[in-house]
Amino acid sequence: MKILVAVKRVIDYNVKPRVKSDGSGVDLANVKMAMNPFDEIAVEEAVRLKEAGMASEVVVVSAGTAQSQEVLRTALAMGADRAVLVQSEAELQPLAVAKLLAAVAARENPQLVLLGKQAIDNDAGQTGQKLAALLGWPQATFAFKVEVDGQQLAVTREIDGGLERVALDLPAVVTTDLRLNSPRYVTLPNIMKAKKKPMETLSPEALAVDVAPRLKVLEVTEPPARKGGMMVPDVAALIEKLRNEAKVI
Ligand code: AMP
Repeated sequence: MKILVAVKRVIDYNVKPRVKSDGSGVDLANVKMAMNPFDEIAVEEAVRLKEAGMASEVVVVSAGTAQSQEVLRTALAMGADRAVLVQSEAELQPLAVAKLLAAVAARENPQLVLLGKQAIDNDAGQTGQKLAALLGWPQATFAFKVEVDGQQLAVTREIDGGLERVALDLPAVVTTDLRLNSPRYVTLPNIMKAKKKPMETLSPEALAVDVAPRLKVLEVTEPPARKGGMMVPDVAALIEKLRNEAKVI
């Protein structure tokens, strides 16, 4: 089984994002970037399936600028075999990414495509679902556990208040949730080894994909600043404030 894993370069989750002064988006100048955390989980799962003898090859793919090579190298250091960069300077919205991934899947013929459930920069949560629709493949989102059983996949999904187990025929698309696994740390020897692993660069034009944006961001705003808390002497004072100041009761 060949596995294709989609990885996105996003603002590091430890960094507090700042909105640009004109409200047109998040300021990415001199900001630390990293692999989207849910995609690290997807790479880890693919590498574990390979280590368990369930997968023959793990190919990682990213769409974005040349700097996306960094996250692809990290994925190679985690144990992926090969990388594909679809290089573009354009703003790539989920539909465009899904079309690019579908075109890469048509070339690579994977039996499983793993994606994160959500990119932590745009919080779209759309790409996996759109990819499955474009390919006409079954999909399981929010994976908590993935088990391969011949030509079938059993995926346990995180749903409100519990878990759901579904069976899908391969080829399939799966998106990862937080508790699927804990990604490994990359070691220096593996970073060195990753430098020698193959990385192919393609373009949206070579894949015949129109990546033109379909929606326009009108405005991005910071969440309102939190007001400071205060101590109240007793329950009566609390009720008085909730009723007359906050007006919530
Ligand atoms: P989104 O639908 O934007 O929240 O992203 C969901 C998942 O799609 C991510 O966790 C990635 O696995 C994948 N994805 C989104 N954008 C890209 C991209 N530019 N390159 C590669 N994978 C991506």
